[in-house]
Amino acid sequence: MQTKMLINGECVAGDGEALAVIDPATGAEIAAVNEASAEQVDAAVRSSEDAFETFSRSTPAERAALLLEIADCLEANQDELAELESRDVGKPWPSARDDEMPLTIDTFRFFAGAARTMSGSAAGEYVAGHTSMIRRDPVGPVAAIAPWNYPLMMAAWKLAAPIAAGCTVTLKPSEITPLSTLRAAELLHDILPKGVLNVIHGRGPSIGDQLINAPQMEAITVTGSPATGMAAMRAASQQIRHVHLELGGKAPVIVFDDADIAAVAETIRYGSFFNAGQDCAQPCRVMVQDGVYDKLVAAVEAQVKEIRIGTQRAEGTEMGPVVSAAQRDRVAAFVDRASTSCEVVTGGSAGDGDGFFYRPTVLANVDNNAEVARNEIFGPVVTLSRFSDAEEALKIANNSSYGLASSVWTANVGRAMEMTSRLRYGFTWVNTHGVGTPEMPWAAMKGSGTGCDMSVYALDAYTAIRHVMVAHG
Ligand code: NAD
Repeated sequence: MQTKMLINGECVAGDGEALAVIDPATGAEIAAVNEASAEQVDAAVRSSEDAFETFSRSTPAERAALLLEIADCLEANQDELAELESRDVGKPWPSARDDEMPLTIDTFRFFAGAARTMSGSAAGEYVAGHTSMIRRDPVGPVAAIAPWNYPLMMAAWKLAAPIAAGCTVTLKPSEITPLSTLRAAELLHDILPKGVLNVIHGRGPSIGDQLINAPQMEAITVTGSPATGMAAMRAASQQIRHVHLELGGKAPVIVFDDADIAAVAETIRYGSFFNAGQDCAQPCRVMVQDGVYDKLVAAVEAQVKEIRIGTQRAEGTEMGPVVSAAQRDRVAAFVDRASTSCEVVTGGSAGDGDGFFYRPTVLANVDNNAEVARNEIFGPVVTLSRFSDAEEALKIANNSSYGLASSVWTANVGRAMEMTSRLRYGFTWVNTHGVGTPEMPWAAMKGSGTGCDMSVYALDAYTAIRHVMVAHG
């Protein structure tokens, strides 16, 4: 198994402590990966800085060609990468292979095109005798921090856009799920010029902290928890750096009386428990208008009770374990604290075996101000609560520290438009939830972050607007 990092064009073992990588379905160790030493982090960021000198002057067409080559390489190795992802995170194998790999690969193909689309305003004479023009140049070497829920897809989101923009990247995957990213780094080191990509391994508060505070890094991009986002902002404030954050979410699912209840219940089954609920856009906070509340609770219960829990390769597994014992205990603690004040419709306990399983859980009659309705649980738990009219639904949904995903379910187009215009969330689906495409932004508001991943708007985080003025004589 590939456990080496990528530093300055070489695959190297970490000189630091060995960290165990655990199969969440069994609790067994599948690999041990050495952390980077402080000297190795330093070597990686210096390599990013050196490579930036040349790579920032490559043409968009050259960068597009590299991104297409990366996509082809990942596609050729997708079975192996999906296997690593599935074992490392506990995902059902078909999910890793057929749901995640296509979007991961397509992200590179999309940014190959996006690299060649950047445009600015027309040059002109805003001061007599002087021509002004706008440039949009790569911002500098980027420190990128990725989470454990979709390790390779999140790495793709953190790499494709800055490379398209002409930046170099030093990436740190999550210390608990590094395997797919380390293998991808080994594959990519034959494609990318030395230093354009460096990948280091290690824990957040030590290795991650050193990376985001490195003076060579001109931008910090994080996908992770709000706490890590705050650490990035603190680091950036010490040196005045660009910061791009995609953080947690608590997606409201607002179901009106005229909604297609069967479609909502099906979306909850397949969306809320996908990746064992460890998804920043998880449809988790279901708010239901009074008239259909009981009907929806019954429909959701019927769907969720059908979910088959199992190991990655077991036939018919719909949901695997959560990623770690700590995550399972955190989820269980949320449910235990809530259970005295709401109804546990189904689930509410850990699964059998040595793995980190937690049963798909539906909590009903949840107060809109309850901890489980407001805080991100990041596990297989859905809350159901009531509202009476659109104004109340908007007030409850917008009174949240998060602002990532949301959805509205209604047959009334006018009401859907009114709701989407007033919800303060980076993205809102109508009569669906969770459908993503690289052309469209994964956008964050409020405590969920700044800017977006995917789409041409992601290039904003990795480019700087510059003004050049030429005097005529
Ligand atoms: P986390 O914040 O614990 O870890 C994310 C990464 O940050 C890891 O690589 C970790 O090592 C690193 N890190 C931790 N502390 C750090 C520090 N002080 N300095 C530098 N790096 C540090 O998050 P997680 O548990 O891996 O992921 C779950 C979170 O990620 C959830 O909140 C989820 O909503 C969020 N997430 C958001 C999106 C999005 O697009 N908005 C996508 C996926 C996950």
